[in-house]
Amino acid sequence: MRIEADLKLGFKDVLIRPKRSTLSSRSQVSLERTFKFRHSGRTWTGIPIMAANMDNVGTFAMTTALAAEGLFTAMRKHYPPEEWDTFIGSLPDRDWLEHVAVSTGILESDLAKLGQILLRQPDLSFICMDVANGYSEYFVEQIAKVRQRFPDKIIMAGNVVTGEMVEQLLLSGADIVKVGIGPGSVCTTRVKTGVGYPQLSAIIECADAAHGLSGQIISDGGCTCAGDVAKAFGAGADFVMLGGMLAGHDEGGGEILERDGQPFVQFYGMSSSTAMEKYSGGVAEYRASEGKTVTVPYRGPVVETIKDLLGGLRSACTYVGAAQLKELTKRTTFVRVAEQHNPIFDG
Ligand code: 5GP
Repeated sequence: MRIEADLKLGFKDVLIRPKRSTLSSRSQVSLERTFKFRHSGRTWTGIPIMAANMDNVGTFAMTTALAAEGLFTAMRKHYPPEEWDTFIGSLPDRDWLEHVAVSTGILESDLAKLGQILLRQPDLSFICMDVANGYSEYFVEQIAKVRQRFPDKIIMAGNVVTGEMVEQLLLSGADIVKVGIGPGSVCTTRVKTGVGYPQLSAIIECADAAHGLSGQIISDGGCTCAGDVAKAFGAGADFVMLGGMLAGHDEGGGEILERDGQPFVQFYGMSSSTAMEKYSGGVAEYRASEGKTVTVPYRGPVVETIKDLLGGLRSACTYVGAAQLKELTKRTTFVRVAEQHNPIFDG
């Protein structure tokens, strides 16, 4: 046994210190980024915020709503190839195909389905290989296999939380590594297994490892407000993935229920018993540890939430003088805050 004594921090443990700035308005801030990916050699331009590949979040309707604003969606993995055909056939703009990833597990049956979807729809460029525990040798082998089979696709893979494993996944064929174990709003990994890593430190360490190899990272999980998204980018995330923050909207397609006159929608982890029952055990491989089921207030169309989120992010950029999102990391100084500091109630 060993104890690592270095301090590791989560979003709630820090704030971003304001800096002298020449920017006078949020409208002077650009949130677009362009990335070139290490294996596929392709480039992508957009606002690097993505919907998580979860039920009621990573849906076709979410994809069109987010793509119209320049954002991205990792699709939930349960859509059959025929539904992809119908969706793509109905898209008003083919460029939106650059704003969606086909998600897959790593069983042979998962990869066979991925192959079918990509054969029928060769214009899809992004693959999201998603497992709860990205540390397994088998996962690494499957990434290498998918890379060999699809040399020109952009592969995002995870989840991991440490630099050496980010390097391993990038060297095995991933272009982008998904970072986060345990921070998710409906995730119970930390409670059930004791395993995890504070998300802000995971981003800082993993971004450093990835950027050294010309790779990118996605900060996945734990953002509860626009401020957390700003902190994730400030820490070095190239992309930020959101589940709970995008739940409860029309585009998720969940049933709108009512309690005490207030509309709400169910939201659940992809390895919660709700998801397991829905997919009759088929999800057990997807998220090794359990997730939970919660209710979230119904919030109408997602575009309003997105405007609010992007407004917060632009404002964060003006506070530190970052005219482009790209500059946010180098202009960020975090200050540690006292334990249990709550920016809403404690000021
Ligand atoms: P959120 O933005 O809601 O905090 O986190 C979303 C992320 O939580 C997802 O992208 C995924 O990585 C993770 N997640 C989703 N469902 C589950 C689950 O059932 N168990 C665990 N451990 N993580 C989950």
